[in-house]
Amino acid sequence: MTKDGDAIGRDHVGKQSQDLMEMESCYGAHNYKPLPVVLNKGEGVWVYDVEGNRYMDCLSCYSAVNHGHRHPVIVDALKKQADKLTLTSRAFFNDQLGPFLKELTEYCGMEMALPMNTGAEAVETAIKAVRRWGYNVKGIPENKAEIIVCSGNFHGRTTTVISFSSEDSYKEGFGPLTPGFIEVEYGDAEALKNAITPNTCAFLFEPIQGEAGVNVPPDGYLKKVREICSENRVLMVDDEIQTGFGRTGKRFCYQHEDGAVPDVLILGKALGGGIYPVSAAVASREILGVFDPGSHGSTFGGNPLGAAVARASLDVLQKEKLAERSAELGSYFREKLRSFNSPYVDHVRGKGLLVGVVLKESAKGARRFAEALMNRGILCKETHYDVIRFAPPLVIEKDDLEWALAHIKEVLTLPELPLLKGE
Ligand SMILES: *Cc1c(COP(=O)(O)O)cnc(C)c1O
Repeated sequence: MTKDGDAIGRDHVGKQSQDLMEMESCYGAHNYKPLPVVLNKGEGVWVYDVEGNRYMDCLSCYSAVNHGHRHPVIVDALKKQADKLTLTSRAFFNDQLGPFLKELTEYCGMEMALPMNTGAEAVETAIKAVRRWGYNVKGIPENKAEIIVCSGNFHGRTTTVISFSSEDSYKEGFGPLTPGFIEVEYGDAEALKNAITPNTCAFLFEPIQGEAGVNVPPDGYLKKVREICSENRVLMVDDEIQTGFGRTGKRFCYQHEDGAVPDVLILGKALGGGIYPVSAAVASREILGVFDPGSHGSTFGGNPLGAAVARASLDVLQKEKLAERSAELGSYFREKLRSFNSPYVDHVRGKGLLVGVVLKESAKGARRFAEALMNRGILCKETHYDVIRFAPPLVIEKDDLEWALAHIKEVLTLPELPLLKGE
């Protein structure tokens, strides 16, 4: 541990960390490959490992921690609700769900919401809604509904959702897959137009593809998508699980373009305030009205504890103007990153505090940079081999961002490539 407790110059993994990593690896399935750091405390933008080293969290749990770790207002809401009522099932009403749905739909400017827990469940909910809308409202023949999706998409890990992933490793060995999905090139509105048939009920997309490497579509894409969907009576389904709630500098990323309002919004991650899994599909009465009792549900979906937490997290987003902060600090962040003139960086992209640093081929992958940054007290993760994603909590202070930038500059301008462990 260095003098001020930061992980700067960390050159070995402590014994306690080592033991805990071995335990996890022994008793847990190996479906992740985490960086070798074992955390036991978080506060705001900072997290601490079991040896007491401090790191800045520049991943924010893929945007689930937009509010920062353990935001006091949200923790307080959690504690208060935990002392009153936590779980009822939807067999009964509870006093938190109604206000939560009202506040969420108002925040989104939409009519109705269906609450679930994880992002993938909200995606599944949207898929069921648009298929049923396709049959009941649009009149598509039974079992013929098609949903158009994008190359490079990420919408979660359930069997149906991976069925239309472009990533082979997500699907391998998990068949038979769910039919009814057609893939088009992301960012290409003409391709969408050409793929539409009378059986198309919806187009599902991310306004920026986070997992595909902070992939930003061309300007005007969403507006064209809106027009094409409206002309063909196809529902525009916007997965803002990662990009929503201020991450890209607006409440929702689609708001960067005028006239691009979707029919269905899929939300998760930051809706739970970094504390509790809360997700939802949000849409019009016409669309969510297709559900009747028995057609869909979730034991934990809409529970009072989650609803109270989500209400607090919506409140904090607005009171602390987190979207505005994200817009301002994000522009500054990207500008600074570009000014480093790193020999390893091809270009920098993103919106708000969702930042992708795309490396040149000669940089030999982003993992080595993520590891080098970790050893300087910054936690981030490679995405798609050659992109470093930076997505700090939106509550970050300018001073802390400056601190991070100094270390990022150091790593991105190292005279030699950082070595991967074992190289
Ligand atoms: C994280 C994510 C999901 C899946 O959410 P889970 O809570 O992990 O199920 C879906 N879509 C997008 C865009 C995401 O980033």
